[in-house]
Amino acid sequence: MSALLILGGTADARELAGVLHGRGVPVVSSLAGRVAAPRLPPGEVRIGGFGGPEGLERWLVEHDVFAVVDATHPFAARMSASAFEACASAGVPLLRLERPGWRERPGDRWHWVDDVEAAADAVGGLGPRALLALGRQQVAAFAGVDSTWFLIRSVGPPDPPLPPRHELLLDRGPFTVSGELGVLDEHRIDVVVTRDSGGDQIAAKLDAARQRGLPVVVVRRPAAASTAAVTTVAEAAAWVSSQDDRSAAPDEFSRAGSPKPSGTGG
Ligand code: NAP
Repeated sequence: MSALLILGGTADARELAGVLHGRGVPVVSSLAGRVAAPRLPPGEVRIGGFGGPEGLERWLVEHDVFAVVDATHPFAARMSASAFEACASAGVPLLRLERPGWRERPGDRWHWVDDVEAAADAVGGLGPRALLALGRQQVAAFAGVDSTWFLIRSVGPPDPPLPPRHELLLDRGPFTVSGELGVLDEHRIDVVVTRDSGGDQIAAKLDAARQRGLPVVVVRRPAAASTAAVTTVAEAAAWVSSQDDRSAAPDEFSRAGSPKPSGTGG
């Protein structure tokens, strides 16, 4: 039986799998396998890389995939590029589901940079004690920064090398503003480093930094391939309905509207 493939590892991907599974759509969710105890979505789950775009293309054909939703994290650029290439080669429709980036608000003191290396260059000039709220694969970019003490917060242990002066805080959120204020105050943080991941679950650090008047170094999203894209689970579910009659929910597609082409993704 043909199935929808969701490239996952995000809360949106889990939610979409739940919605579609509940409607009887055969869904396979794919996870990279980086997290020891991942939160699993409803429905079938496969874990591990496909072996690049060629491997993914083979997988799409062998599993008779009728469409793909790329709901990976905004900074999972390799997987998204691979999906774009494989779907084009296999002739399988692809949709990008990506939550919007964060927007600056009055009182924010954000410093936008293009990548984590630029963030590492910038942080020393902004304060001696930094909260590093990044993916565990990005921490190594700060290994050469010895002028700053880091509170490194990540879901799992960060990949070495690590900056010489640091403390680890393993936590995956969601976080609250009062909790984040407590972290900033307890560790006497004077600068926050984050990527523009977007979404509500981890945005509390931005509110907390604003309340304390702290600068925030924000890493821009990587450029994305130009494919059809939506920002909400409802829109993605509607798109799947348009690709597969089994998942149709009355009126949903007309409510959500048509997907729009994406730009740079961030
Ligand atoms: P990445 O750099 O774009 O991917 C590296 C390789 O990992 C890909 O080429 C692919 O291997 C494999 N891979 C990635 N996502 C996969 C998926 N959903 N299913 C199967 N294979 C996958 O990605 P990443 O930044 O390491 O992120 C890995 C996963 O963690 C993603 O699912 C992402 O949604 C999730 N995540 C990432 C972040 C982050 O900060 N980047 C944050 C939260 C969640 P092959 O080439 O062999 O297919």
